[in-house]
Amino acid sequence: MADKSFFIDTTKCTACRGCQIACKQWNMNPGTKTVQRGSHQNPEDLSYYTFKLVRFSELEVDGKPRWYFFPDQCRHCIQPPCWIIAESIGVKAISKDASTGAVLYDPKVKVTADQFKQIRSACPWDIPRWDEKTQGMAKCTMCFDRIKEGLLPACVKTCPTGTMNFGDREKMLEMAQQRLREVSAIYPKAQLLNHDFHRAIFLVIDEPDRYHKFASADTTIIGALGNLINAEKVSALAG
Ligand code: SF4
Ligand code: SF4
Ligand code: SF4
Repeated sequence: MADKSFFIDTTKCTACRGCQIACKQWNMNPGTKTVQRGSHQNPEDLSYYTFKLVRFSELEVDGKPRWYFFPDQCRHCIQPPCWIIAESIGVKAISKDASTGAVLYDPKVKVTADQFKQIRSACPWDIPRWDEKTQGMAKCTMCFDRIKEGLLPACVKTCPTGTMNFGDREKMLEMAQQRLREVSAIYPKAQLLNHDFHRAIFLVIDEPDRYHKFASADTTIIGALGNLINAEKVSALAG
């Protein structure tokens, strides 16, 4: 199987939350108890049982209300910082599928609160989640059980608008660049977010932090992570 990626075209997202529900259903994750917080976003955040969350950001732009929708999930990084940190502290809960590039967590591996804190803080997109009861970690699986059977991820299969796309990485990058060219003519701030670093290529048409605080990672953080990755490689070669 070839290297895979998502292309997530937020310009087409209506925030119907079909992807979020399909993710829950396929992964047999229970619903989360929520409270009214004055926002349409529900639940409030990703969790051990919520791998996909449609984030709603409601802002005033040029005196008018504007909604920004962001179907958040793990980016399945090319060199995953969560994996590097986990390996460096001896936590064997994270693996990388060499063929698709999926970054997979094993929720059965017990991780202490302190270890989890280090792993979560290594992720520039704030994705990993942990369950105090089971001591396991969880996040988006790339629907690995589906894709290895030739099926689309549940969130992609369900999306009715063409926001969620999945396939060979080269094809997804091509699709993303083509769409970026189209929307840039109308929205000069249109951009792809950190697409060289991971496999969930988001297209947005405004400043990324208007969508979500962790929509895009600071390039200086990514640079520092690159150094860390290189240091890991050197120590692996040495040892
Ligand atoms: Fe790990 Fe975060 Fe990258 Fe997902 S987005 S692979 S959790 S570092
Ligand atoms: Fe959920 Fe699967 Fe989509 Fe990941 S790929 S967000 S696990 S439905
Ligand atoms: Fe947006 Fe598609 Fe998810 Fe609906 S299913 S919220 S359109 S990404």
